[in-house]
Amino acid sequence: CGIVGILGTHQVAPLILESLKRLEYRGYDSAGIATLDEAGHLGRRRAMGKLIALSDLLVSDPARGRIGIGHTRWATHGAPSVRNAHPHQAGRVAVVHNGIIENYRELRAELEAGGAAFETDTDTESVARLCDRELAAGASPLQAVRATLARLKGAFALAFIFEGEEDLMIVARRGSPLAIGFGQGEMYVGSDALALAPMTTQIAYLEEGDHAELTRTGVRFYDANGTAVIRDIVMVPVEN
Ligand code: GLU
Repeated sequence: CGIVGILGTHQVAPLILESLKRLEYRGYDSAGIATLDEAGHLGRRRAMGKLIALSDLLVSDPARGRIGIGHTRWATHGAPSVRNAHPHQAGRVAVVHNGIIENYRELRAELEAGGAAFETDTDTESVARLCDRELAAGASPLQAVRATLARLKGAFALAFIFEGEEDLMIVARRGSPLAIGFGQGEMYVGSDALALAPMTTQIAYLEEGDHAELTRTGVRFYDANGTAVIRDIVMVPVEN
């Protein structure tokens, strides 16, 4: 339902939580975050119910890292539960997802036939496992995401991070909006600009079918054909 991503210069978990709070108006049943610590290791924290539960969990069990993704979930496939809460992880990749993967049954069957062991009842896990399969076959993160996107049917926004890739986030938009925010040596992702308002007023929107590769120094946009494209930066008004 709500997506946030931060490539930051300080610990990002508190910032991600703050941004998720700004998306609370959309409604949600559970929430979670994934970060990569200084050694590049993926860690996830997920909780049912209100963000205060995730916030409490992060106090007792902090998620370290200067890069991370966060999500508030409105379950469409798979009952609300910690296990079904985002981010979903498969091997080296973690992903958050808004929307619906319509062909997830077919993808899941194919991946299970190839030996994948699913851990959730969500449509989203197929995205993580497809991407992990590509990475395991030697694809770069960008290649892996592109191969994954080529297999997906439905309407979605996605944000990926990768174990061992502390300065990389890949995002994609098909039918669900996604905004990129520009900071001082930091980059942000949000399912709407409102989520990013305290951090930046400089926003570029992915257009329909786009994907983008972010590092702390900038972003490269690609259209649905994989052609590099320019997306204009707009100033969103500062509000409280
Ligand atoms: N279809 C996904 C799920 O049920 C994402 C739902 C959402 O947009 O929050 O987990």
